[in-house]
Amino acid sequence: MGKSSLQETYLRSAAYIILILFAMMSPVSMSSCQKPDTNAKPSVVVTYSILGSVVQGLVGDKADVIVSIPNGLDPHEWAPSAKAIEAINKADLVIRNGLGLEEGMEQSLAAAEKAGVRIFTVSDHVDIRHVGQGEGIPSGDPDQSVGASDPHLWTDPLTIKVAVDALVPVLKKELGIDVADRASVLETRLDGLDGQIRDAVSIIHAEDRRLVTGHESMGYFARRYNFTLTGVIIPSLSSQAGVSASDLAELKKTIQDNSVKAIFTELGTAPAVARAIGDETGVKVVELSTHTLPADGSYFTYLKDMAGTIADSLK
Ligand SMILES: [Zn+2]
Repeated sequence: MGKSSLQETYLRSAAYIILILFAMMSPVSMSSCQKPDTNAKPSVVVTYSILGSVVQGLVGDKADVIVSIPNGLDPHEWAPSAKAIEAINKADLVIRNGLGLEEGMEQSLAAAEKAGVRIFTVSDHVDIRHVGQGEGIPSGDPDQSVGASDPHLWTDPLTIKVAVDALVPVLKKELGIDVADRASVLETRLDGLDGQIRDAVSIIHAEDRRLVTGHESMGYFARRYNFTLTGVIIPSLSSQAGVSASDLAELKKTIQDNSVKAIFTELGTAPAVARAIGDETGVKVVELSTHTLPADGSYFTYLKDMAGTIADSLK
């Protein structure tokens, strides 16, 4: 074999190898830069179900809404499944609460954001409530200390209305969908809901407007409808903290000193602890759905039911 034919063989095999490499690489690179279905609706991931219901009402059929944390599970404690992480990474927009509500999702959300996924944080756009003097139980828990940010913003329909308003331009810019008309209908309904809640709780005397709950979850509702947060079973904004004997003794005293009419338990409250406090104080224990949508999946039913339960228990 001559020098030139050796060179030719070498060049030919080099070209062949390059062709094979290109063939191997191209499907991967194509699928990552090509939209598989140009008619597909944009996908919006919402971290928890209550906010998901509001967003679904806002976008209608203009986007696919995927809720990460299954309804009925404690958002404070939930860690995302591989499927949920995949949906977040593929989302055209992720809408989250913020202020530590989605504690277990923070890493996945941060990674997605770093990779270029657009994330809308509701608490960046609304009037945040902070723990006030005399709320809950002095326990030394940093989440409970005066000034800590309260994530439970969905318990006030007018705070949700502000969030809806802030979402409209973001949905336009990020997804190219115009929901201005739907937003105006939704905001009118939220005003109506606010009126219905005011009516429902109007039967409760001012001195009975005291909330003792599983954890400090009703602050935004209390701020809007003139209730006082008198005590919590778990002395923390999150439902993950433990309960100490001295905190419980102080809570019992607070309940008796203030003639509290009901103790509300919720997702994350230990039922035995609530029952024991109820037995020792002679105060009824009532279950309140603070973090879970009702069977019809509606935010409106959720808040009306909650206000109705509070009114029935404290009137
Ligand atoms: Zn909570």
